[in-house]
Order: sequence, then structure tokens, then C-alpha cells
Amino acid sequence: MEETKTFYLCAECSKDIYLKNYVKVNAKSKASCTICLNEVRTLNISVDTEIVDFCRFLIRYHFPEYDYNTHWGGDDLPQQFYSDNPIISHQFADLDNRDIEVEEFLYELFDINNYDSKIDLYYGHDESGRGLFPEAIKNEKSNTWRAYKTELRNKNFFLLEDEAKKTFSKLLDDLTIKLNSGENYFRARIGYKEKKEEVGISSVTIKVPFSNDELSSPPVLKAKAGRANRQGVAFLYLASDSKTALGEIRPHPGHYVSIGEFTSKKKLTVADLRFIDLMKFYRDDKKLQLFKLLKDLSEELSIPILPEEQENYLVTQFISDVIRQLGFDGILFNSSVSSGHNLVAFNADNFVFKTGSSNLIKIISVEFGYKATEYHIDSFLERAIEK
Ligand SMILES: [Zn+2]
Repeated sequence: MEETKTFYLCAECSKDIYLKNYVKVNAKSKASCTICLNEVRTLNISVDTEIVDFCRFLIRYHFPEYDYNTHWGGDDLPQQFYSDNPIISHQFADLDNRDIEVEEFLYELFDINNYDSKIDLYYGHDESGRGLFPEAIKNEKSNTWRAYKTELRNKNFFLLEDEAKKTFSKLLDDLTIKLNSGENYFRARIGYKEKKEEVGISSVTIKVPFSNDELSSPPVLKAKAGRANRQGVAFLYLASDSKTALGEIRPHPGHYVSIGEFTSKKKLTVADLRFIDLMKFYRDDKKLQLFKLLKDLSEELSIPILPEEQENYLVTQFISDVIRQLGFDGILFNSSVSSGHNLVAFNADNFVFKTGSSNLIKIISVEFGYKATEYHIDSFLERAIEK
């Protein structure tokens, strides 16, 4: 009888965040990971069919079809996984002596030869000839997001609210968490106050940080539009730590910045968009669209506002207000400037300034960092033109 090999995957070698999370949660016993060969807690991929379906789906999630379909100039699967890729580590230990084993592992993990799989990797043919999936799923906006964007330009937002409330009330069930009362959050504001201090018989002017109301959200009449709020609506934007609070206001070298803490006065119900588990959504297209809608919201909330993208802004403001109307006290989302997170609180009165917590700092230098994403449509067109 032919021996069937068993393959294992550890969380360390899983790079995609949803895959990593799944392996972390489900890896119960120790075995040698087929990638790194370390004896650690691993998942037996030969018995876990869920992971095999999901990994196959991750190909569509991370790659446009022309990357892995030779017909469109791509490399045959599983070539992609021998070099740096967003799904798994390519650092196969002792690859020279294990090349056949590794290849078998990749075929199994991504279910490559399964032509009956429900997860379509190839677009195939339609009336107009051979088609392709031109964009990685992760780079596509959800249909609903695009529809909101168009409709909010032409209609009053309240005409769309009832429908949106229905969509979001179900969607947020899994993403609702309670924040305890007495938790501290940070808020920063560029600038300071001047104060006269008596020194003997003369007086000097010193700089002191803003505190209390000066650090809190502005009065409604002065409130400018933000990522989650329309003009004239004052929400309180808070951060999980001082570094995140500082990064979010994007100070320049030479700026003085006041930072202080705010404490929650009661238990709060918030929508937590920090981790939306793709595994719960990928199996059917309707659910996948909903995942994308939540991901779009979470991403758009976490990136800084560009003046030329005011229209995306309309959508984040619209959905944030729908979430508020559903009875939530706020939204938690990741920060794009640090590993911390942000909380937008719909009612500033749920927080109180922590007396004596404000500090004044002077910015000496600012680190520049960026995350880039390949713009696939362009590279596809370039390749098409070269041919
Ligand atoms: Zn490993």
C-alpha cells in the first residue's frame, strides 16, 4: 500500500492574517511544520478540509488571475509560493532534499488539482470568449460601497438609511463588543496655551498643554467634517495609546502637541471593525460582498482623508451614522499610523477628561512610513501592450 504523507502548517509560517488566526485558534497538537520543520503547534492540513478550501480561495483573494493563469502570461500554480507571497512563508527548510515533499504539500494545501472544487480559480469562457478575474478580491470595492458612493452624490442620505440599517443590523451581530467603564483613551491636539507665572517680583510666560474641553471634541457649530462625522456633528475621536493619538493628527517637526487622557464613564456598546474574519464570509458571493463592505468601511476609516476623495468620505460618514442609529456608542478601528487602534465615540459625554493627564511635547522629527499596494490593472494593461 502506498504511504500517504501527512502535512502540517504552523501559525508562524501562515502569513495571511485570516489564515494565521485560523491556525492559531485550531492548532492543538505539536508536529513538525512542513515549511519550517519546527516541532510546534500545527494544523494537520491533510485532515482539515476547511483550511484547504480556504487556502484555495486565498489565491483569488490575493492574486489577479493573470498572475497564476499561464494563458494570460502568469506562472503556473504553485510557483508563486516558492518566493515572497502574501499567504504562506516561502522559507522552506532543507528544500534541496525535500523538493518533492514540498511540491506535494503545496498541491494539497491549495487543492490545486481539484477541478470539482466550488472555489473557482479561473474565470473560463463566456459569450465574449475567454475571460479572467482581472483584480484580486482584496483590491475590489464591494458592490454596495460603490452603489452608496453613486447614490449619495445624487440623493439625500436619509433616503438610503432604512435599507442600510437592515444590512448593518445583521452584519454587526458578530462584531459587537462591550467596553468597560473606567477605560482610558488618548487624544492629541496641535498647540498649547500660554500662562503668566509670577517669578519673584516679575512674571514670565510659559507654555502649558490644553486640557479638558480644549482637548475634547469641538462644539457642534465649529465641528468640521471628519472621517465618521458630517460637518456640524461632533464625535469624539480617541486612540488606544499616546503614540497612535499623536500619529493620527500628523504633526510636523517644530509643532507643540498637547496630549491627554479621557476615561469612559459607563459600559459602552461598540462595533469592532479591527478584525473581520474572512473565514466566516468566503463561501458564498453574497456573504463575500458583505465582508468587503465591512472591510471597506474599516479601511476607509483608518486612512487619512484626502481632499480629492471627499466622495469616499460621504460613505464613511453615512455608514457611521447608520451604526449610531442602530444603538451603538461608537466604532473601533485600526490605525494606519501605528499598531494601536482608534475609537470614534458618538457621544463625547460618555467620556470624562482625566484630571492632570495632559502633557505638552515638542515634535523633533517625524518618521515617514508607508504601505503600498500594487496597481494591478495598469500592470496588466502594460503587459497586454507589450505582447
Ligand atoms: Zn512553520
